Amino acid sequence: MKRTLWGVLLMFLGVFGQAQERTVRVRLLWQHPPSEIRLTPQGVSLRTCRNCTPIPLSETLLIAAKSAQVLAGSSSGTTLLLAGRARISGKGFAAFRIESELEVQAREGFLLLTLKMPLEQYVAAVLQGESAGFESDEALKAMAVAARTYAVHFRSRHPAEGFDFCDTTHCQDLRLGAESERLRAAVAATTGELLWYQGNPAATYYHRSCGGEIEDSRALERNLQVPYLRRHRDEYCVRVPDEWHVQISKSDLSRAFRRPVTSVVIVERSESGRVQKLAVSGQAVTATDFRLAVGRTLGWDKIRSDLYEEQDLGDIVSFRGRGQGHGVGLCQTGSDVMGQEGRSYREVLAYYYPGTSIGLNAQGLSWERLPGESLDLITTSRADATVLLPSAEGALRFAKERTGWTISARPQVQIYPSISVYRNATGEPGWIAASTFGSIVRLQPISILQRTDSLDPTLRHEFLHMLIEATSAPGTPIWLREGLAIYLANPQGVTPASVDVDALEHKMRALGSEQQTRAAYRACGAAVANAVEKKGLNSVLSWVRKGQ
Ligand SMILES: [Zn+2]
Ligand SMILES: [Zn+2]
Repeated sequence: MKRTLWGVLLMFLGVFGQAQERTVRVRLLWQHPPSEIRLTPQGVSLRTCRNCTPIPLSETLLIAAKSAQVLAGSSSGTTLLLAGRARISGKGFAAFRIESELEVQAREGFLLLTLKMPLEQYVAAVLQGESAGFESDEALKAMAVAARTYAVHFRSRHPAEGFDFCDTTHCQDLRLGAESERLRAAVAATTGELLWYQGNPAATYYHRSCGGEIEDSRALERNLQVPYLRRHRDEYCVRVPDEWHVQISKSDLSRAFRRPVTSVVIVERSESGRVQKLAVSGQAVTATDFRLAVGRTLGWDKIRSDLYEEQDLGDIVSFRGRGQGHGVGLCQTGSDVMGQEGRSYREVLAYYYPGTSIGLNAQGLSWERLPGESLDLITTSRADATVLLPSAEGALRFAKERTGWTISARPQVQIYPSISVYRNATGEPGWIAASTFGSIVRLQPISILQRTDSLDPTLRHEFLHMLIEATSAPGTPIWLREGLAIYLANPQGVTPASVDVDALEHKMRALGSEQQTRAAYRACGAAVANAVEKKGLNSVLSWVRKGQ
């Protein structure tokens, strides 16, 4: 399936003012911050302070740290802000792509990279980091709900450091810009859904594999005593053997603990058999601290769980264990087995977090798919269907007739029950009425669209986008795709004007305020109307197919 852009938008709802989207601030390359990165722009602008004017970047830029200063070409500052899409590469880490705001600061010659991501984009990146190997789509959906709930429950695990989450398993492991369609689909199918317990998002711990014994939450956090994180046997993951064996030299252990390590002895185990306390050269260390210390310095593939036996072999210590991770909450290996055996994501979540409920809110509001003639509605309210199905079918027909184009995937229209759920899911501000991603149109609550008489125009515009995005060749400028949707939705409503399209394209790649966005969209429509007047509609449509 073809990748299309997020955030294709037109209809503005002026009433919501400065509503803030739900975003998370993620520190990238937290463990090994680079001193230099190479940025390849794919539509990105640079600011040297919050209130500075954005400078569009068109060439590869080297960004380096010099003590507490960030140097980027001829610019420098204590904080650089990059907004838009770019590829980031450098020594010692795998290249990745960003598509939101990246803040770059420096400390002691290292770059501190903090990415501001919409929650759902974060969940997709976590799935890519934690669950890319899953066989089962239902297990992926269960993980999407668990990862999203985890982020909302904990909100911030690094508040003192000025960001919410790091990009390692300490918080949630992350892979940026590599999310497959399959992962995005799992996230989209559960958009906004959280796991609730007594009116609050649950503490949805999860791990790779429990080795057959789910651990009690108190082993991880002494004060966390909740019925959905109790010890129980896992009858699913035991079908996949997961034993490990590792030998670590005492000199490596000394490096990990930054002091001489002469002996490692297990002194206490939990009821599930997991190590709770060790004596490291006679000093008490919790099993979690032991695992984290070894993991951070020597790699996370060494002590893979707390379910192990140790043996002192002189210069080295040998560890033999089962499972991977802390063992609390959802077992990813077991979830994948459940999914492959035909269990739904709801059954997976009920098995690993018994007593919780899934929903968009604490009352258990959840998604339902209602099929129409040529498209599906995804809604939390069946009453939506009577209004929306006829409007949506009509708008889709309209868009097909206007362009003469079709789409191979079955279109879906997802209606959000509230502005806050919409904002959290799409990462877009509340004044945007709808957006299209692939074959899914995502709409604000119908009552709001009806109140502003914008339901039909919004649907027509979004379906036009869907066809344009599905048809356009790679590299088709944004002004042309956006302007064409605006023009085709209502040709009489657009006044042709001659526009500097290169300058407009730069603007479209770094949109800011509502006013600025509105003006830029108007200019896109005017530019396309002008082109249609001069060259004819068929020529303009053919530009989209050719990517000119
Ligand atoms: Zn962390
Ligand atoms: Zn398990």
